[in-house]
Amino acid sequence: QNEEIRCIGCGAVIQTENPDELGYTPNSALEKGKESGEIYCQRCFRLRHYNEIMPVSLTDDDFLALLNQIRDANALIVYLVDVFDFNGSLIPGLHRFVGDNPIMLVGNKADLLPNSLRRSKLKDWIRQRSNEAGIRPIDVELVSAKTNESVDDLLTNINKYRKDRDVYVVGVTNVGKSTLINQIIRQNTGIQELITTSRFPGTTLDKITIDLDDGHELVDTPGIIHKEQMAHYLKGKDLKVVQPQKQIKPKVYQLNPEQTLFFGGVARFDYIHGDKKHGFTVYVENNLFIHRTKLENADNFYDKHFGELLTPPSKESIDDFPELERFEFKTERKSDLVFEGLGWITVPENVTVAGWAPKGANVLLRRAMI
Ligand code: GDP
Repeated sequence: QNEEIRCIGCGAVIQTENPDELGYTPNSALEKGKESGEIYCQRCFRLRHYNEIMPVSLTDDDFLALLNQIRDANALIVYLVDVFDFNGSLIPGLHRFVGDNPIMLVGNKADLLPNSLRRSKLKDWIRQRSNEAGIRPIDVELVSAKTNESVDDLLTNINKYRKDRDVYVVGVTNVGKSTLINQIIRQNTGIQELITTSRFPGTTLDKITIDLDDGHELVDTPGIIHKEQMAHYLKGKDLKVVQPQKQIKPKVYQLNPEQTLFFGGVARFDYIHGDKKHGFTVYVENNLFIHRTKLENADNFYDKHFGELLTPPSKESIDDFPELERFEFKTERKSDLVFEGLGWITVPENVTVAGWAPKGANVLLRRAMI
C-alpha cells in the first residue's frame, strides 16, 4: 500500500523528486524522519531551524485554486512584483481571484533602478501600467527586500490598510517574495514562536504564517510559475550573467538604421527604420556582453559566434537553447522594448525596431519607464 506521507508542519505531501516544488524532502532526511516519526518538508525544516523560508512554486492550476481560496478570505492582498521584470510579474485577472479583497501593489528590487529615477514617478508609472492591466491597487509601494530599503514603511502601511484583517502575500516566482518575508521575520523580533506553519484549510497547499499582534496572520503563499521567464531557458552560471545583482548602469548606443545589437546569445535588437544617429538606452545586467554589428550580417554573425563570443548560453548548453524568435514594432511615442526577464531598451518615437528572444520568452513594447 502506497500511503501518502505528509509534512507535519504544513501538510504538503512529501516528495523527494523536485526541490522547487511543495513537500520536497531529501531522501536522507526522509529516512531520519521516519525513524523519529517527525517528518518535515525541507521548507518547514529550514523555517524551524534557521528561521528562514525558501521559495516554493506551484503550477498555474494549483495557484489558481489557491487564489480561489483567497477570494473567500477577508484579507489585504499584498501583491509583490519585480520592478525590473514588471511585465513578467503581472498576474492577469488577479481581481477575479481575490474577490473584493483590496490589493496593495508592492514593487520590489527598487535597488536595481538608477537613483536618478524619482521614486514617486516610478510609483505613478507602476500604477498606470497596473490599471492598464486591469489591476486597481489601493496603494503602491516600492521596496528593496535585499537592501531593506523602505521595508519599515511597507510594514507600517500594511498595518494601516489591513484594518483588522489577515494579510496574504502573493506573486509569481522570482519576484523576491521569500527574501521579503525573511526580512519581515527578522524585523519582527526574537521570533521563533511568532512563526507557525499550518495547513491551508481543505487543501494540501502549504502556507507560512506570521502572527500579527491582533490575532490576525500574515500568510506567505507559494509563487506562481511564470513560464515565459528567462530563468527557464538558462541554467546556473548563465542565469547569473543575465539577472542583475546590482544597480543597473544604463548604456546609451547611438545607432543608425540597419544596425543590430546582440546581448550575449540570448537576445538581439535591430534598429530597422528611422532617423540617423538615434540614442537607444539599454537596461540590462551590467556585465552582459553587448555586441554591435550591421543588420545585414547579423544572422551569419549569430550562427558563427553563438555560444562563444555571443555567450551566455555557454558552449555546453547551446543545444538546449531555443531559437531566437523575432517581434517587430513601430513606435508612436518614446517606449521600452522589453525582453521579459532580461531587461529593456528605451527607443524613441517613430522608429521601427525588432526584438529577438528565445522562442517562448516574451518581447513587448510598453510606455517608457524612465
Ligand atoms: P521568490 O521566488 O519570489 O520567493 O524570490 P526569492 O526571494 O527567492 O528571490 C529571487 C531572486 O531575486 C534572488 O536571486 C534574490 O536574491 C533576488 N532578490 C530578491 N529581492 C531582491 C531585491 O530587493 N533586490 C535585488 N537586487 N534582488 C532581489
